[in-house]
This record gives sequence, structure tokens and C-alpha cells, in this order.
Amino acid sequence: MSAKKNILPFFIPMEGCKHNCIFCDQRQISGRIKSPTPAEIRAELALFSLKNMEIAFYGGSFTGLSKEKQLQYLQAVNEPNIKKQRAIRISTRPDCINQDNCFLLKGYGVKTVELGVQSFNNEVLLAAGRGYKNEVIEPAVRLLREFGFSVGIQLMTGLPEQTKDLSLFDARQAAELADFVRIYPTVVIENTPLAELYRRGLYEPQTVEEAVDLAARMLVIFQRRQIAVIRLGLNPDVKLAQAVLAGPYHPAFGHLVYSRLKLWQALVLLQRARAPQKILCPKADLPLLIGHKAENKKLLLQSYPLLKIVGDQTLPAGALSADGVVLLYKEFLQGLGENNFL
Ligand code: SF4
Repeated sequence: MSAKKNILPFFIPMEGCKHNCIFCDQRQISGRIKSPTPAEIRAELALFSLKNMEIAFYGGSFTGLSKEKQLQYLQAVNEPNIKKQRAIRISTRPDCINQDNCFLLKGYGVKTVELGVQSFNNEVLLAAGRGYKNEVIEPAVRLLREFGFSVGIQLMTGLPEQTKDLSLFDARQAAELADFVRIYPTVVIENTPLAELYRRGLYEPQTVEEAVDLAARMLVIFQRRQIAVIRLGLNPDVKLAQAVLAGPYHPAFGHLVYSRLKLWQALVLLQRARAPQKILCPKADLPLLIGHKAENKKLLLQSYPLLKIVGDQTLPAGALSADGVVLLYKEFLQGLGENNFL
């Protein structure tokens, strides 16, 4: 699938955005102050082999740009010398999708459209300053599908008014619509309206623990439906870290989430084993089972003080075993309730 290609991103920070979403400052999130010109894009593309490469326009609302500007960018990535090698993806908002821009994107070889949906709940969308209601989301996805695009949905958690249950609802909705998703816990970036709310005590961000727990539950929903989750948390970046005022920013956020699922799998397995002395884990999964700063291991040892974690070469990927009981990852996922497990 296209998500497996290497992505060469061009950031157009907040260009084409009709609204200033309260959490957003793409200049700080992406580290790019201004958009590249089409000439700069051509020059950069000349430096790369584009084989198995996907060119992406991120950081703004591509289809919110004027048609002229969209054309200039699309032409820059459609030069005859690169046309056969490259794929293109763009990100935009669901209220900026219509027949005209679908024809335009299709005509210039765009394969993938990522929609910054963030939430399916109207109170949350309103509080975040998104400027559209949830009823535009599904028609936008359906139209993109009619044109044959692969559709990604970006979701956020921890926005004002956004409860854990609403986020789980968002995940179920997105799982019905998307080919792949990204999940971003809300972090408070300096100089945004959300930073102002936070300073005035009107917004309380998630803790890292809350964000990890929720993202893990959402991940279960997507994995059970075999929807790829291609990003968990913002890309770690030194400048971004400096701009974060509060919230669950963690450079290894994705690792924490996958590690949480591995902990849950281990707990399910250990409940099934009669007298577990050791837990066998494929070597590649050991870092997940042991956890960031060995947190999972410490937790497991609290309940099972004699337990040893042992790397194994024979178990299938994702499986765990203890006391002769094997728990395949798929079996673990299917056995979980989505809302009230563990
Ligand atoms: S979140 Fe997206 S739509 Fe909102 S201002 Fe940022 S780039 Fe624009």
C-alpha cells in the first residue's frame, strides 16, 4: 500500500486554511516558516531518486489553495522526467473536497488524500475552531473514494470537550471510512489560542499516561479491522519540543502505545497460565514487552515477582507464551472488548 513508500514531504504551513484551528501552528509543528515555491520544489526533486518515493504536500489545506496555486504545485511534481516514478499525496480538510478539486488531483496523478478530520463530534469541532460540522466528513470521503483515491483520516485526542468515549466513537467512525489513519494527541503549542486557554486555566491537556492509554484502545479498534495506523503522535523535533507548552508530547509516543498493547497481551496470557515462571517473547518484540524504561517489566514483576522475560526464536511474530500457553497477537486482539478491557 502507498503508506509503505518513502515520503518526501513539502510543507505548505497553514496555506489554504480557512480557519485558524485553536491548537495549530504548523510553522512550529513542521519547523517550516514558509511554503516552497514551485521552482524550489523542482530543484529539490532533481536531487532525489524518486523510485518508490511518494511526494507529499503537508501542513496546510492543499485543496483550500487557489486553483492556480494548486496547479503550479501539481505541475512542479509532474515534470516528464519524474512523472513515471513518483506517487503524490496531499493533506487537506473535509470541507475543502468537491468534484472540481477531485478532478484536478486525479488529473495530476494524486493517489492519496489525507483528511484532517480530528473529531466526528460537533461540540469538539466547534470548540477546536475547525469551522465545519461532522456532516461534511462522510460525503467527502465517499467522493474521494468515487475518484479512486486512497483515503487517510487524521484524528486527534484530548481536544477541548473531547472525552475518552468520544475519541473511541471517533475511532469507530474512522474505521468505517478510512484506508489508514493517524492519531495525534493534542499538545499545547506556544502562541496558539489553545495556549491562551491553557494559561487561563480553561483547558487541561491529557497526561502522557491518559493519551497512551486512549491511543492504545483506539489502536485496538483499527487493528481489529486491519486499518493501518501510520502515525501515533507528532513527529519528534527539537524545535517542536521547544514550542510545546504542555500536553502529552513524547518523542517515543508510538513506542509507548505499542508497548502498552504488549503489556495488556502479557497480562491476558499470564491470567491464562497456571504457574507462570517465565514469559517467552520473540526477540524483535522484547523492547515492547519490557517497555520504555522497563516500565512494563516493573509492573509485571509487581504481580509476578519471580517472572523472567526470555527472548525466543520459535514463536510467531507478535505471539507470547508462558507455562505452555501460547497467545497469538490476533487472538489477543479479537478477545478484547473495545471499551472495558483490563
Ligand atoms: S489544523 Fe489543519 S486546517 Fe487547521 S489551521 Fe492547522 S493546517 Fe490548517
